[in-house]
This record gives sequence, C-alpha cells and structure tokens, in this order.
Amino acid sequence: MQCPKCKTENSERVSYCVRCHTPLKYTCPACRHVQLQGGICEKCGVNLAKYAAMQVFLAKDAAEEKRQNTGWRPPLWAHIIFFPIPAVIQLTLYLVRKARRQ
Ligand SMILES: [Zn+2]
Ligand SMILES: [Zn+2]
Repeated sequence: MQCPKCKTENSERVSYCVRCHTPLKYTCPACRHVQLQGGICEKCGVNLAKYAAMQVFLAKDAAEEKRQNTGWRPPLWAHIIFFPIPAVIQLTLYLVRKARRQ
C-alpha cells in the first residue's frame, strides 16, 4: 500500500505510514469498519470527522451536566421556610389596602 502523501510503500497491516505517519486506514468510530479513506464510512455512512466532533461535544455536555448536579442547591427546609414569605407579603398588602379603604 502506497502512502498518499510521501509515496512510501507500506505493509498492508500498518494503519499509519511508517515514514510520515499519515493515516493509511480509518476506523469508523460507529461500526468499527476499517477503510482506506476518511470522510464518510463506506459501511454505515457516518461522517467520521463529524462523528468525532460530536463525541467531543457530547462528552463536554455530559461533563457540564455533572458539574451542575454537584453544584449547590438550597435544601428542602429552605423552600419550606422561604416559600410562604411572598404569600405573607401579598396578604399584608391586601389587608393594608383594605384597611385604608375603610
Ligand atoms: Zn507517508
Ligand atoms: Zn461505520
């Protein structure tokens, strides 16, 4: 197999050119099909470059989600204690307005 870049003759078993390390074979990340050119997988049609980029994106997304989950959250008691406050304020304002009207 000849390297497309430096034209060195390589063994069929190597995945990279022994001289310039250009990839001679591409493995599809989705179906593990090995082919001689990058771009689109000949077997499942996956775009190899796009698929790789998507994997990175998903990994980043998962990491972000994990970080958010470990972030601080108000405990349940805080909700119970602070939730009635706006209701109390509303009620007070209502009562004050009612008292003034009379
Ligand atoms: Zn080469
Ligand atoms: Zn594939």
